[in-house]
Amino acid sequence: MIPKACKRLAEVDFPIAEVSRHAAREKSIRHGHPSTLHLWWARRPLASSRAVLLALLWPDPCDPLCPVEFKAEARKRLGTVGCNPGTTDTDLRVALLRFIADFANWDNAAKPIYLEVSRALVKAAHGDEAPLVVDPFAGGGSIPLEALRVGCDAFASDLNPVACLILKVMLEDIPRHGPKLAAELRRVGGEIKKAAEVELADLYPQDPDGATPIAYLWARTVRCESPNCGAEIPLVRSFWLSKKASRRRALRPVVVRPPKGSPEPPRVDFEIFEPKSEKEVSPGTVSRAKAACPCCQAVLPPERVRAQLAAHRGGADVFFDAKSRRTGGARLLAVVTLEPGVTGRQYRLPTARDYAAVHAAQQRVANLLADWEESGRQGLCPIPDEPLPPIGTLGFRVQRYGMLEWGDLFTARQKGVLVQLAARVRERYAARQGAVGELLAIVLDRCADYWSSLCSWHLTGEKVNHTYGRQALPMIWDEVPSAGV
Ligand SMILES: [Zn+2]
Repeated sequence: MIPKACKRLAEVDFPIAEVSRHAAREKSIRHGHPSTLHLWWARRPLASSRAVLLALLWPDPCDPLCPVEFKAEARKRLGTVGCNPGTTDTDLRVALLRFIADFANWDNAAKPIYLEVSRALVKAAHGDEAPLVVDPFAGGGSIPLEALRVGCDAFASDLNPVACLILKVMLEDIPRHGPKLAAELRRVGGEIKKAAEVELADLYPQDPDGATPIAYLWARTVRCESPNCGAEIPLVRSFWLSKKASRRRALRPVVVRPPKGSPEPPRVDFEIFEPKSEKEVSPGTVSRAKAACPCCQAVLPPERVRAQLAAHRGGADVFFDAKSRRTGGARLLAVVTLEPGVTGRQYRLPTARDYAAVHAAQQRVANLLADWEESGRQGLCPIPDEPLPPIGTLGFRVQRYGMLEWGDLFTARQKGVLVQLAARVRERYAARQGAVGELLAIVLDRCADYWSSLCSWHLTGEKVNHTYGRQALPMIWDEVPSAGV
């Protein structure tokens, strides 16, 4: 055991430059990295957590109180990983710091030789009883995960239930069940997907020609308030659909004016075309919450844009008349499809069928809410009705557009899908499929991140951007409810 008065390595030196380099590189590593398990803010790099833990757990060999057994074990082990322990205590200190720097590299984090050396030296310093690392606010779990890696026991907790779920899955379920758990998740996930494809078929119909819609590109709309106009303005930041070099597509707005004397306002139709240059694509209609009318060029100030959208809780939903015809609200601009036998994404204009599916989704959600009311509001509301945090908190700014509850962040169709999938995940919990149930909940969270009305379309990647692209929740002007169930 290390005497209390003996200095730890971190008190005398630390390879900060190299560990920082590994920590920075780790941010761009996705495959196999625990950060991909679930979104978490302020996630600490594993590299620095691992390095700091070892530097705190190991004694400084130059301290006269440093246990001789630790120094002997360190001299024996460090040579096996290319860290020459030399002959003096200072040499040994340098070698220990070298090891800490090398082990901070993500590429070495799971190599058996590094794990062995780190665990053997922790044991040499602390005896047979593994040291306990306690992290009461563990968040994404970097510190307890690294504590387990180097042979400590770990205790982790957090006030936030999302953090607790991440910690439970990462520190308990995955180490306990190993690759079997991944296989089981694929199996159960496959079953849920199959069932969902049947249960949600009416919300995501195939095209008559056999193509499969994979994303719907929407715009919120406001009414032009200039006298003698009254046109519907689709709020679009850019009319580009795809900037991929091999498939450049954009929308061309076409103003259609009613015959003289007609009470109808002018309207904007769209065509899809292949632009040869940036100049051919019209500028968007919205910038910094100001909306420009494509029909009369009048500008609607931000406070009016906000007021109009706030009247409809953010305006992400479509309004229908009694005959299920669209009368306003969100407007479908284009549908991205995959066609059998054709590589790449295709873009088409929306049809009445597309709106019919949205109408069906609205009815499904209305029925869910009606059932809940009828039950005397038993249990939680099926659509999350808790208020969003106060405006400005954690970068939440969408409240200014009338999105006040969590449910307001989703369109009716997204609500319908997420509620359905949540019910299936809950069934698995009830069937005591503990670890798999927890992983399914994490998958559902990821679905919610990709299927909100605040997702946008990635123009070169031709894919949906997730909601939390930034650590904030600002208004997004081209929402993309995804169809990829
Ligand atoms: Zn106008």
